[in-house]
Amino acid sequence: MKEVKTPRKPLLYYYAIVLLCLMLFNSLVMPWFNQRKIQLVDYGTFITMTQNQEVGLVELQENQILFTDKEQTKVYKTGRMEDPELVERLTDSGAQFYPEIVEEMSPLTSLLLYWILPILVFVGIGQFLTKRMMNKAGGNGMMFGMGKSNAKIYVSSSEGIRFDDVAGEDEAKESLTEIVDYLHNPKIYQEIGASMPKGVLLVGPPGTGKTMLAKAVAGEAGVPFFSISGSEFVEMFVGMGASKVRDLFRQAKEKAPCIVFIDEIDAIGKKRDGQIGGNDEREQTLNQLLTEMDGFEGNNGVIILAATNRPESLDPALTRPGRFDRRVPVELPDLKGREEILKVHAKKIKVAEDVNFHQIARMASGASGAELANIVNEAALRAVRNHRPFATQGDLEESIEVVIAGYQKKNAILTDQEKWTVAYHEIGHALVAAKQSHSAPVQKITIIPRTSGALGYTMQVEEGNKYLMTKEELENKIATYTGGRAAEEVRFGTSSTGASNDIEQATKLARAMITRYGMSQDFDMVAMETTTNQYLGGDSSLTCSMETQTEIDRQVVTLVKEQHAKAIQILMENREKLDELSHYLYEKETITGDEFMQILNGDGKQEQNNDHKGAGEQV
Ligand code: ADP
Repeated sequence: MKEVKTPRKPLLYYYAIVLLCLMLFNSLVMPWFNQRKIQLVDYGTFITMTQNQEVGLVELQENQILFTDKEQTKVYKTGRMEDPELVERLTDSGAQFYPEIVEEMSPLTSLLLYWILPILVFVGIGQFLTKRMMNKAGGNGMMFGMGKSNAKIYVSSSEGIRFDDVAGEDEAKESLTEIVDYLHNPKIYQEIGASMPKGVLLVGPPGTGKTMLAKAVAGEAGVPFFSISGSEFVEMFVGMGASKVRDLFRQAKEKAPCIVFIDEIDAIGKKRDGQIGGNDEREQTLNQLLTEMDGFEGNNGVIILAATNRPESLDPALTRPGRFDRRVPVELPDLKGREEILKVHAKKIKVAEDVNFHQIARMASGASGAELANIVNEAALRAVRNHRPFATQGDLEESIEVVIAGYQKKNAILTDQEKWTVAYHEIGHALVAAKQSHSAPVQKITIIPRTSGALGYTMQVEEGNKYLMTKEELENKIATYTGGRAAEEVRFGTSSTGASNDIEQATKLARAMITRYGMSQDFDMVAMETTTNQYLGGDSSLTCSMETQTEIDRQVVTLVKEQHAKAIQILMENREKLDELSHYLYEKETITGDEFMQILNGDGKQEQNNDHKGAGEQV
């Protein structure tokens, strides 16, 4: 990298000021200080004192005479006058006297002593300070390390965070184990020719342990860990961020195998909007990052982990194969996860023996790992405040409220009634899906609120790849969408706002069946909608008359109504199962498709496609 010269001028300026101050001090203040002790007397007194033989030492200077009393305890001075008898008088008085001895210095010595030496000393001090300043800023050649990456090496090989420290998040840990294994035995992978993913994207809400997981990968593999935040790349000057990226990768390659962790990657990896006058600096930084990632081989041992809680805003170029092609979801912990996290953190403080962590975890539904850590710490603080030697169940419960009140708006913490409603709602979806013949099997049901705003979801995963859907399948899908609301109606006899997304999805599907898929009797295979910009969102526009549009609307309503009625009927017929499953979900908060089917059938057999990358669906 091209080095920029240290700017000297300002520093020299400071030296000059310091030098000047010292000189002033030397020539003005010091003499003043010394002379304060010397008493000024008139010439007459001097003469009288010599005549009375009261004078001890006398120094005859050019303009003044310095002298002491006989005991040499006091120093006097007086001005020098034209006095031809001075020497004689002094001889008579018995005083010791001498003229001032001015030590002559060679011009070279004085130059050295008064000019070159101070300058050298100051330059030396200046260099030392500059170096220290730059080391602090993380660079080693430039002022304040501009354009240098601030990545810090956190974990040396032996110490640091391990997977065991990260509680819950088993799925994420499992996905990352392969990387640890690769770092342990790169040879096995290289021999086969397999290359590791260059980048892994940890996606999830804040405080769920993404940073911890990245550190744990380094800790488990015993490799160095570089950590930098995406926002640190964003510099004031165009090109500086890019040069930081270059520098980071240069350092990482030197230390390979190693882990590079980029937190908040969305700060640089946002979609490039292509607008004129966009953020040049960020784009350059992103481009540099992409270039660096393309530049090194998959098996050179530098693995990049990045974290974001806004994956949808990332530039597609970042998530392309060969870059951050692996995505590891790090979700909010479920009941079991929360209990484990509480226990991990409770080890760091003293707690009463009878603390029921299960109960605390249940109460803190929707809390993230960081919030749980905070709850435990808050409980410890409470214990101290109340002069208790350890935290009690009461402390923990109280601190949940303290912490939760702080984030209630951010993360939905459900009231008990809401939690019941969500449980019934989700089981409604799942039950309607399961009781119809052409529905995708249920993979997972959860009522842990998402930061996306969803209060729960039912994930259905198709068996194998599915490119075509029949009319019946589409109808069943609409019925499944309405199943949530249907369950609320069946159980509580009323409806809530929780179904807004379902309504949107069901309507969209019903409309597409009629206008695009030619699945209505009346319109047969007549296209009523064209799609433009297929790659840019797929805007569609209706290509039919006003009357037809009204007719379409009517048919959409009929279609959805029919399916809604069907869903209600299914749930009424299975009312017992609906209650049983909803209770189970309320208790567990997250249940797997297997558990669901076990309760539903009693036999626990459900053909499952365990592919997590499958078409997970939020309904
Ligand atoms: P993120 O990077 O996802 O925002 P962090 O990894 O920085 O979250 O987590 C912040 C803190 O929260 C951690 O230092 C830890 O104390 C706590 N924490 C979060 N998740 C977990 C977890 N799964 N297990 C234990 N502690 C956790």
